[in-house]
Amino acid sequence: GKFQDLAIAPVLMAALEKMKITKPTAIQSQALPVSLQGSDVIAIAQTGSGKTLAYALSLLTTLNKKPQSRALVLAPSREMAQQIYKVFLELCAEMPVSVCLAIGGTTGSKQSNQLKKNPRLIIATPGRMNDHLATNKLLLQGVEIVVIDEADRMLDMGFAPQLKSIQNTLRGPRQTLMFSASFGHNVEAIAQLFLHPKAFMIR
Ligand code: AMP
Repeated sequence: GKFQDLAIAPVLMAALEKMKITKPTAIQSQALPVSLQGSDVIAIAQTGSGKTLAYALSLLTTLNKKPQSRALVLAPSREMAQQIYKVFLELCAEMPVSVCLAIGGTTGSKQSNQLKKNPRLIIATPGRMNDHLATNKLLLQGVEIVVIDEADRMLDMGFAPQLKSIQNTLRGPRQTLMFSASFGHNVEAIAQLFLHPKAFMIR
């Protein structure tokens, strides 16, 4: 496969070139055509497979195409959320997209002010996102794309209640992209909660 054969936004193709990324990985070749068409995707993918770019390129292409759309990326730990945030900043350096990182370990007030301004992209841990939602249920209004990264790890860490509560505040049509290193009963239950029954499975 080639990135050129996919309908990725030109501004992102330029960013990839800057990052010296030339050829899609297996997960990118499989996930991008389906997710770019708007389908829900669940992918069983390990760290190192290139999963971050698999969802980031799709999500940012959609945000680029639909100026009113918003997205949420959930990651199990602060460190991971920070890593994902860096990748997004690099990819959308030339895009007018506001990004907010909502994680624990820092004061919530600055984040909460940023979140009130309705950033187009929120990268968060389930715990911190849920804390913010407890004071303002409308923070995710207009979110049309949700990414759940490392779903299995999130559930191992006991984030199922927070995920359910976040899901409860989401309204309207949406695309969900879920990534997990394994696919056990817990992951399946969360998939059923978030994903369209006809979600595309990649394993
Ligand atoms: P991830 O699985 O998202 O944690 O990515 C693992 C590493 O692979 C990261 O350092 C990425 O920069 C790198 N990477 C992702 N996609 C590609 C690609 N298509 N070609 C070369 N490296 C890549």
